[in-house]
Amino acid sequence: MFASLSRTAIPRTSTRAFSASARAQADVNAAVFLEDKGGELVPAAANAVTAAKKLGGKVTGILIGKDEASLEKAIAMSKKLGLDALLVRHAPALEHALAEPTAPVLAELVKKQGFTHLAGPHSALGKNIFPRVAGLLDVQQISDVMSIQDAETFTRPVYAGNAISTVRSQDAIKLFTARASTWEPAQPTESECSVDVAAAENVGPEQAQWVSEEIVKSERPDLASAPTVVSGGRGVKSKESFDSTIIPLADALGAAIGASRAAVDSGYAENSLQVGQTGKVIAPNLYVAVGISGAIQHLAGMKDSKTIVAINKDADAPIFQVADVGLVADLFEAVPELTKKIEEAKK
Ligand code: FAD
Repeated sequence: MFASLSRTAIPRTSTRAFSASARAQADVNAAVFLEDKGGELVPAAANAVTAAKKLGGKVTGILIGKDEASLEKAIAMSKKLGLDALLVRHAPALEHALAEPTAPVLAELVKKQGFTHLAGPHSALGKNIFPRVAGLLDVQQISDVMSIQDAETFTRPVYAGNAISTVRSQDAIKLFTARASTWEPAQPTESECSVDVAAAENVGPEQAQWVSEEIVKSERPDLASAPTVVSGGRGVKSKESFDSTIIPLADALGAAIGASRAAVDSGYAENSLQVGQTGKVIAPNLYVAVGISGAIQHLAGMKDSKTIVAINKDADAPIFQVADVGLVADLFEAVPELTKKIEEAKK
């Protein structure tokens, strides 16, 4: 069954009151898939909780993993998110959060517990698991939700963020992923919720095999949630100059590091640092774009930043159309000078 879609171009907002929606709101019994990494909740899980709370009803968290012990920290973190209840489901096959075994567990829980909504982060894992759950439940997934008007009406970006689509779902179960940068993380509370731990039912087939993973450990702020981000693009020219220009400026500002896809593809920066349509979508207080032209796919990932600073030697670069502060200069001169000035000002 498919939801009805109505497309609305920016900046029109709907002021219509939906009486049926108000009724639906009263019956909301939402669940949130709480993504964890290495036994700890990922920051985007707390953003998804806020989105689910916006629905206006009961909110239950769902944690899935190998066993209770491996989820100990995630359970403690989840209990502080102001949830009404927490369901913990475990099985050996769920250790690495592979989509194939995990999706049927979520679908089963939604059906058995009678959830009206299932929310989750719009992360790489969320984007892998949720379409499968939607298929199993025969409902349409609503992706990258930016705002919720009522229990059945959601907005999401389309055309790389150039238009906002208002989606009104008529599915019995509403399934959506929440864009982390538009939802504040749920604030920690002292009141704890009830926890129900049990073996997972309906674990899916192990069609994919977990082989290994490389975790990049960094003391640097997390790109997805950092208040300041310094990003480098193809204009930086090499990995060596990325390391000697972008990293010192980020250090001086206490910032996370980002990169354009061209910089990632050229090997200047890790894939996980890509900002944009096919990378991370972020909205820091300050975004500094260095040697980045401002292609539409890059803008899709950063144009909601509160203040955008662009450094580019081409005065006609499209990045200047979204920048609050623009510097037309050679980055190899401007960035070291700026970094020096910031370091001096800190003394
Ligand atoms: P360029 O466009 O080559 O720009 C380099 C800039 O550096 C230029 O403006 C130049 O004037 C400037 N410059 C050069 N030398 C100097 C100097 N010495 N000093 C100052 N400035 C200098 N891109 C993303 O970033 N993120 C995405 O998620 C993404 N997803 C995509 C998805 C699809 C389906 C497609 C088709 C493309 C996607 N892209 C994405 C790629 C995107 O279209 C652009 O190719 C890319 O963003 C360009 O990166 P860039 O700005 O670093 O490089």
